[in-house]
Amino acid sequence: MKFYKSISFTFSVRYLALLGTLLLVLGCSVYFTLSKRLYNNLDTTLRERAEQVVRFRDVMEIVAKGSFEEEPGEILSFYYYTNDKKLKDLTLKERRISVSPEQVDQILAGGESDFSFAVTPDGKILRLYSTLYSSEHAKDGTGPVPKVEPGDKRITVERAVLVIGRTTKNIERTLDQLFQTLVLVLPLTLVLMGCCGIFFLRIILRPVQDISDTAQDIGAKDLSRRIPITTHDELGNLAETINHMMERLEKAFRRQKELTGDASHELRAPLAVIQAEATLSLQQEREPSSYQKSLEIIAGESDHMAGIISQLLFLARADSGNEMAEITEVDLVPFIRELSDYIEPLFQEKQQTITVHQTGSVIVKADCSLLRTVMLNLLRNATQYTSEKGNISLSITTENSMARISVSDNGIGISEEALPHIFNRFYRVDKARSRESGGSGLGLAICKHIVELHQGQISVTSKVDKGTTFLVSLPIA
Ligand code: ATP
Ligand code: MG
Repeated sequence: MKFYKSISFTFSVRYLALLGTLLLVLGCSVYFTLSKRLYNNLDTTLRERAEQVVRFRDVMEIVAKGSFEEEPGEILSFYYYTNDKKLKDLTLKERRISVSPEQVDQILAGGESDFSFAVTPDGKILRLYSTLYSSEHAKDGTGPVPKVEPGDKRITVERAVLVIGRTTKNIERTLDQLFQTLVLVLPLTLVLMGCCGIFFLRIILRPVQDISDTAQDIGAKDLSRRIPITTHDELGNLAETINHMMERLEKAFRRQKELTGDASHELRAPLAVIQAEATLSLQQEREPSSYQKSLEIIAGESDHMAGIISQLLFLARADSGNEMAEITEVDLVPFIRELSDYIEPLFQEKQQTITVHQTGSVIVKADCSLLRTVMLNLLRNATQYTSEKGNISLSITTENSMARISVSDNGIGISEEALPHIFNRFYRVDKARSRESGGSGLGLAICKHIVELHQGQISVTSKVDKGTTFLVSLPIA
């Protein structure tokens, strides 16, 4: 049943209409080509015959005597002016062809030989060829010398117009027959080719129907289904392309689900702490200091939640492509100096040292506050994942029209297995340790997005227990 559904009624009608038009065009072109060819042949025959006739010696005499041997269906006339300027004609067997005096004058005056049509009184159509005849031809001509009987009047004409014609009866008959054949054959061909075409199209398009059926069955909840690839032709390629697209969609949906799960998980932990503290405080009356402690914990956890939510909002805006970057020229030297002053207390807390290396002014085109977010995330990570009294270094160099900002530490480092994942959202190498320090695993994902927004790159190299280096490359302004 599906097989018969695979080609629609509208498609069949369109196919038949196209096929019909093609056959009609084909029929018309056959008819007109043949007609043109037949008339061309007739014209060539007429021209050759006229050339032959004008070369007959004293042909006008022969015609006048009625002894000219005409070919079947041929009509022949000479038009000339007598000495007293009267237009006369010399016609074979009195079968007169009407030619206008203007046409005669034109050819006599040296005009070109001409083809035309004429209709005989009995309704037959004639194809005519008019050309110049000169008595010079007669003198040097070939053919039989006409017998001149005593008393015969010689026709002394120097120039005349030879009009030679033949009926187009045979051509018309052939074209009529062709027309009748076409009228009969074309509809039959249309029906036959239409049926065969639709039959084969159904077979060819069956895989398309299968693809469309499977695509229809695939819902947002069942993205794991794939279209079976049965052929290795264009349709097989189409199915493969759709399968690849489904794979990408499935991955994106899965990631989205994981992200939602991770986000709720991240938010559930501080929320549980807030709820527990509040419930405990309300259970019985306590010392003011105990309330103070609970409120401090609640405030801390709320801060943590607010941080995650604002990071998530940033990434959601980034995903929708709605975030606006205010690009200006930023000189990295004062920018980094101001940043390291700002972050200094954080390093002092852990008695860490920060060294800044820079050679000279390097200007990049960037959104100053977004670039600040990147650098703060990297520097916070550096201090967070480096033990007390550790060293952190920050350097700015240039290479191939790119500014390179590197943040290195001699902290705990990142394992080789973890390195490819650290820019993923909510990814943390050591979940417990990171959670302790308030990290949610979104910082580097945000950094990567911002750097790419600036047509830059961010990369990392690290060795466990040796240290980590993050390298940010940004195009120089
Ligand atoms: P937050 O969203 O608050 O930044 P986070 O620091 O845990 O949380 P990221 O900054 O994205 O998240 O870092 C992801 C993980 O990469 C971290 O949890 C940590 O395990 C690892 N990491 C990042 N920077 C360093 C570093 N300099 N040294 C060692 N590990 C690091
Ligand atoms: Mg971080």
